[in-house]
Parts: sequence; structure tokens; C-alpha cells
Amino acid sequence: MVETQPILEFSQVALSFGETEVLKQIDLALEPGKFYTLLGPSGSGKSTILKLISGQLHADSGQIFFEGQVINDVPAEKRRVNTVFQNYSLFPNMNVFDNVAFGPRLKKLPAGEIETKVKEMLALVKLAGYENREISELSGGQQQRVAIARALANDPEVLLLDEPLSALDYKLRKDLQQELRRIQKRLDITFVFVTHDQEEALAMSDWIFVMNDGLIQQNGTPEDIYDEPINHFVADFIGETN
Ligand code: ADP
Ligand code: MG
Repeated sequence: MVETQPILEFSQVALSFGETEVLKQIDLALEPGKFYTLLGPSGSGKSTILKLISGQLHADSGQIFFEGQVINDVPAEKRRVNTVFQNYSLFPNMNVFDNVAFGPRLKKLPAGEIETKVKEMLALVKLAGYENREISELSGGQQQRVAIARALANDPEVLLLDEPLSALDYKLRKDLQQELRRIQKRLDITFVFVTHDQEEALAMSDWIFVMNDGLIQQNGTPEDIYDEPINHFVADFIGETN
């Protein structure tokens, strides 16, 4: 096998809030261009891992590497990472164009380039022609598509997705699962997707990290995890149906 340099790596990363050890000595390595999923029950530490990657939180100990460089002290705005959250977090008073243009404008790109970028990103999420729509006119699924376009307009190398589909109904969730997979392959960037839904993780991922209680219980392909759960926790969790 050819060794690829990881785009992201955690080495013995730990974090506590007060007395509570939220992450305990986490090791992980992510290769570029893959779809990774952090799967685990509520409170297992999934969002905390994303916040350490984005720089919203800082580790108590251990090292976080981005393309081989330690980034523990690199501020959030200097990381090539963007996050999509469950609850859209769009700017409600800006139209679709201005939401997606937000990042490119901060970077002071020329107006023509911004317009091209926004159109390209809206086409990618199948909202071409929605530039002038108000956020409040859009359905939940459409708002989440705008949130994805807005995050991608920043040209992240890693896109973090924190339960982005959990608020959507079954049909929309299925559609957006496929869309996200297609977008990830098309852009060939690294996705780190968080869910508590086993079925969703198994359907979407190249590689799954199963978490519980601040620890990675098992990591592997969906087939590995489904066919050979390493312990009772993983077996029970994967076997649960929603
Ligand atoms: P998940 O995303 O898997 O549901 P989180 O990473 O959000 O889990 O949280 C992991 C644990 O850390 C939970 O027990 C949660 O209550 C705790 N936690 C998260 N953020 C804070 C905080 N700011 N202060 C104290 N405890 C927190
Ligand atoms: Mg969470």
C-alpha cells in the first residue's frame, strides 16, 4: 500500500471540562480526499473532536497536526477548515447570494470572482437560480444546502459536518446523504461527518470512528464495523435500529 501523508492527525489528544474527561487520549489519522464519520451516542465527544479540529476548543494535552504541522496554537480563522452545523446557522437577514458570498468577501476577492464562486457552489448543491431568495422562504433542506454552499465557498481542505441532517425528515435526509457523498467525491476534499445514526454512517462513509465515553472504540470501513464489531458496545450500538 502507498503511504499517504495524513491531512489531519491527533496524537494522544485529551480534554477535560472541570472534572469530566470528555476526550481521553485520542489518536486518529485522516487521509486527504476521504469521507470520514464520527459515530456515537450523544455525549460521546464527537462535537468536541470537531471543535478541536476547527480551533474552537484547544486540547489540554497531545498534538493535532494539519498536513504534518502542529496546529494546537493556530487560531480558528487561520485553519483551512469550515463547519456545517445541524441548525443551518445562516444569516437570516441576508439573501442566498450574500450568505454564500460571505467568506469570499472577507477574503476580499474581486467581485467577478465572488459571483463565479457563489454560482458554482449553488450549482453544486442544486440551488442554481436561488441567488436572490430570502432565507426565510426556503425549506429546511434548502437552507441546509445553502449552509453547505456557504461553507464550501471558503475553499476548505477539510469540511466538518456536525449532525447536518439530524433536523430533516427521512426523505430529505436520504436525498442529502447521497448529495453529500457526491459533493465530497466531486471536490475531492476531506469530510468529517458526525452522526449518532448507525445506518447513516454505514451508508455514507469510507471510514468510521465509533465513539463512546470520550474514546474511539473501533475504527474501520463500514464493512469491518458491521461484520466484526470489536466489543459489546459496538455490537449493541450498530445493532440498534432507530
Ligand atoms: P457529542 O457531540 O458526541 O454529543 P460532545 O462532544 O458535545 O458530545 O460532548 C461530550 C461531553 O462533554 C458531554 O458529556 C458534554 O456534556 C460535555 N461538554 C461538552 N461541552 C462542554 C462544555 N463547554 N462544558 C462542560 N461540559 C461540556
Ligand atoms: Mg454533538
